[in-house]
Amino acid sequence: MTPDKTLFVATSDLAGQLRGRSVPSAAADSVLRRGVGWVPADLAITAFGPIAPNVFGSTGDLRLMPDASTQVDIPARGEDPAVSIVLADQCEPDGSAWACCPRTFARTALEDLRRETGLEVTASFEHEFMVRDLPATAPFSFERHRSVEPFGSELVALLESAGLQPENWLPEYGEDQFEITLEPAPGLVAADRAVLLKELVRDHARRHGHRVTFAPLAHPDGSGNGVHVHLSLQTADGSPALHDPSAPAGLSEVGRRFSAGILAHARALLAFTAPSPVSYLRLTPHRWSAGGVFLAERNREALLRICPTSTVGGGDPSRQYNLEFRASDATANPWLTLGLLARAGLAGITGDLPEPVIWPETVTEEELAGVPLLPTDLSAALDDLLADEVVTGWLDPALLDTHVSVKRAELEAVAALDPVERCARFADVY
Ligand code: GLU
Ligand code: MG
Repeated sequence: MTPDKTLFVATSDLAGQLRGRSVPSAAADSVLRRGVGWVPADLAITAFGPIAPNVFGSTGDLRLMPDASTQVDIPARGEDPAVSIVLADQCEPDGSAWACCPRTFARTALEDLRRETGLEVTASFEHEFMVRDLPATAPFSFERHRSVEPFGSELVALLESAGLQPENWLPEYGEDQFEITLEPAPGLVAADRAVLLKELVRDHARRHGHRVTFAPLAHPDGSGNGVHVHLSLQTADGSPALHDPSAPAGLSEVGRRFSAGILAHARALLAFTAPSPVSYLRLTPHRWSAGGVFLAERNREALLRICPTSTVGGGDPSRQYNLEFRASDATANPWLTLGLLARAGLAGITGDLPEPVIWPETVTEEELAGVPLLPTDLSAALDDLLADEVVTGWLDPALLDTHVSVKRAELEAVAALDPVERCARFADVY
């Protein structure tokens, strides 16, 4: 007998892990209306499982309230049953928002940006990952592409049927590395898709007997797995707001201010966008990850890259024009990443920060020598976070406190390991 299908009601936590509980699909209607139970201290679960010290303790209760628009259906395959995943907001038992819910944080940040500026955020999260233990193949090669069939083609079909709008599925540069890009989507939808994408890839790999890892680095000498976040802004009528053909590098005034906010708070933001000890092994120069806090045209060492546009085939540069935030990875929570980038951008638009330098494509390494550095490790990023009163002011104190506690516990858990062992440990978890 084929087992009945289940519905997994899920949230993504401070370690960027999807957690939740499942219900029989026959109960789906009632669960969509009433949610399922959840526990505040779950927010303090570290990437490795143990719970970090936290302010919630053994008391308190929440509801995971599903957002039906996020539901994805994974069809049965052979003996493996069908399952659906639906993403949820973490709410108080009366249904009101929980102050520490990462998804609510993103939604509220986007709402505040809209209310204060009239602007909408469009985003896309670009994921790199490794399919482990494959025979060696060349970067970007057709052979690499074929080496994971039929996993790859089935995965693209699954993403399509789940409504994630895959754009590219490619063999990447690093050993065993691949990448998936999705079409740009409204901010919250894009972050939801980033949460789901990792699970769909992992689950589909499991079905094929493959092991994948999204860890920022699987080996200190290897290539990094980034999660680059592409961002653009639109006015209420959908007109592109980042692009101004008459402005330097085509970046509109609002775009320059938005960028200035992200650059000004970058070191603090990294404690959320690159929140694992191994994230900082990836974020070093010459890895095409992000080598410093700067904004540049079409430069893959930049924290914020102004992406290329193309007029080929009637393409409209204004609609393609976007900024890519490169210092994030799959150990981050996509909702917090997006919400914080939106908040930093909003602070830039409404504040009076100096004009950001836009480095041209021709910039040399010598010319970039003076740009601010990224934190060198997670401890430094956490210190920078706690020192930035603007950024900490955007976060509920319990959310901030739990994040710092979880990250310190993760640092402690790998303190005795050398870089090779640390990367291996994170590669197993992510
Ligand atoms: N693998 C690089 C990273 O760690 C990105 C390479 C690329 O530009 O696609 O971010
Ligand atoms: Mg790439």
